[in-house]
Amino acid sequence: MDKIAIFPGSFDPITCGHKSIIRRAIPLFDKIIIAIGINALKSTYFNLETRKAMIRAVFADCEKVEIQSYTGLTIDFCSEVNARFLLRGLRTSADFEFERSIGQINKQLNPDIETVFLLTQPEHTAINSSIVRDILRHKGKVDQFVPVEVLQFLK
Ligand code: ADP
Repeated sequence: MDKIAIFPGSFDPITCGHKSIIRRAIPLFDKIIIAIGINALKSTYFNLETRKAMIRAVFADCEKVEIQSYTGLTIDFCSEVNARFLLRGLRTSADFEFERSIGQINKQLNPDIETVFLLTQPEHTAINSSIVRDILRHKGKVDQFVPVEVLQFLK
């Protein structure tokens, strides 16, 4: 059976932190589905098509990486795409507490799915999409925080 993992998030936009976690997970799985969660109640900075195009550009050379979007519970989306692994990145103890609770609840909802955590590289600990969006709103430079392939979408 193929080892399929999903890496869920909003990717608004994809950052160097996301990219690094996904790249490091590639040897662990047969396929990684980057799953863009759609929440109809939340507005985003980049529309869905742009977020997908950014991710596609970042992983253009990776056959194992796919991009999909989904609505509803992440754990249900895992079953839909036959993913037995849910990949997450951990930056801080606050991330850990948040992820622990979701991970434990997900395990109760579907015991067949394992959540797998990778620790962020130290240089990516402070990066998150919401800070990147704030910098963009104020016309600042985000070159250090997003993959180089994303820059073409910011012009
Ligand atoms: P963001 O914080 O960028 O909005 P999401 O909430 O969409 O990201 O999270 C998607 C996944 O990416 C989560 O598992 C989150 O922990 C992980 N992640 C986000 N930023 C980083 C980072 N800088 N380093 C490692 N993992 C990260």
